[in-house]
Amino acid sequence: MFKRLFTPGPTEVRPEILKELATPQIHHRSPEFSELYARIQPKLQAVLFTQNPVLLFTSSSTGAMEAASTNLVAKRCLNLVNGAFSKRWHEITVGNGVPCDAYEVPWDVAIKPEMVDEQLKTGKYDAVTLVFNETSTGMMNPLKEIAEVVRRYPDVLLLVDAVSGMAGAKIETDAWGVDYVLAGVQKAFALPPGLAVAAVSGRALERAKHVPPRSYYFNLPDMYKFHQKNQTPATPAIPQMFALDAQLDAIMAEGIEARFARHAKMAGIVQAWAKKYFDIYPEKGYWSQTLTCVKNTREIDASAMIKSLVNDYNARIENGYGDLKGKTFRIAHMGDVQVDQIQGLLRTLETIVGL
Ligand SMILES: *Cc1c(COP(=O)(O)O)cnc(C)c1O
Repeated sequence: MFKRLFTPGPTEVRPEILKELATPQIHHRSPEFSELYARIQPKLQAVLFTQNPVLLFTSSSTGAMEAASTNLVAKRCLNLVNGAFSKRWHEITVGNGVPCDAYEVPWDVAIKPEMVDEQLKTGKYDAVTLVFNETSTGMMNPLKEIAEVVRRYPDVLLLVDAVSGMAGAKIETDAWGVDYVLAGVQKAFALPPGLAVAAVSGRALERAKHVPPRSYYFNLPDMYKFHQKNQTPATPAIPQMFALDAQLDAIMAEGIEARFARHAKMAGIVQAWAKKYFDIYPEKGYWSQTLTCVKNTREIDASAMIKSLVNDYNARIENGYGDLKGKTFRIAHMGDVQVDQIQGLLRTLETIVGL
């Protein structure tokens, strides 16, 4: 049976968008395909406040993270770590044999601009990876302020995982000077999994040309070459692109700013609820706009609560990630979820727990 998803990816996809997946196939070297590709491009650029090309990956977000690690580091990469996904990016970088160091802080602490400055001062690095919205902890790291610091180092590229933030929170890619910002579409875009996108700056593309190719599939200069023809090097997930095109129209129709405002409103409601009955895991001032990681201060049985929500109410939230399981639980308020649905969910949780 259909369950309403309040999970931080995959998120719920509206039936109208699911229907788009059934659009009759077109050939990826046909003019119709290039028209589809070209239609998607300016809308993605609008979501990301960028003039940079936004490349399409037929992979989950992890593929676009790997592309950054393998294409954009010539010297040494600094991986900023304060959660499971930023840790994963370090592991991806290590796993591909790319010189790197992890700078790790406790997972409930945000990455601060001064910390980044301290590391970059060493002169060891020419790229830095940051997870904007840490889905494992509900932490929104201060991207704008960190970008300001990174921009003082002309040779350092800023690579950002915005997987669970993009299309739910504002990212001013060009104004802030973000060189690479990626997301999978199954989170705040509210699309089925299978595609990732990344806006790539001219500086980053220039760097990629001079880095010895470490990957055949995730080759940014090659992807950019095809991008200029409104194509992809290999066969992309064409059904997903029909869905993306339609969903971007819906996002434009809602209004980008209105979409961000809806996310902010839902975040405020969930945060107030979490503070009233429990607490919030990350440090104050850095709570995510797209999901809330509730600190289980009442020591309720989070697994039992989720099980009841799934079995008795056909909805799903997510337990804490990894070691945080049971100690926290996560409520996503991202994608096409509406304010009244969030309010209904919170009342349901109150009923289940007996609050
Ligand atoms: C979900 C998520 C990922 C991994 O995404 P996949 O699409 O499963 O590869 C990476 N980073 C963040 C912040 C995420 O939320």
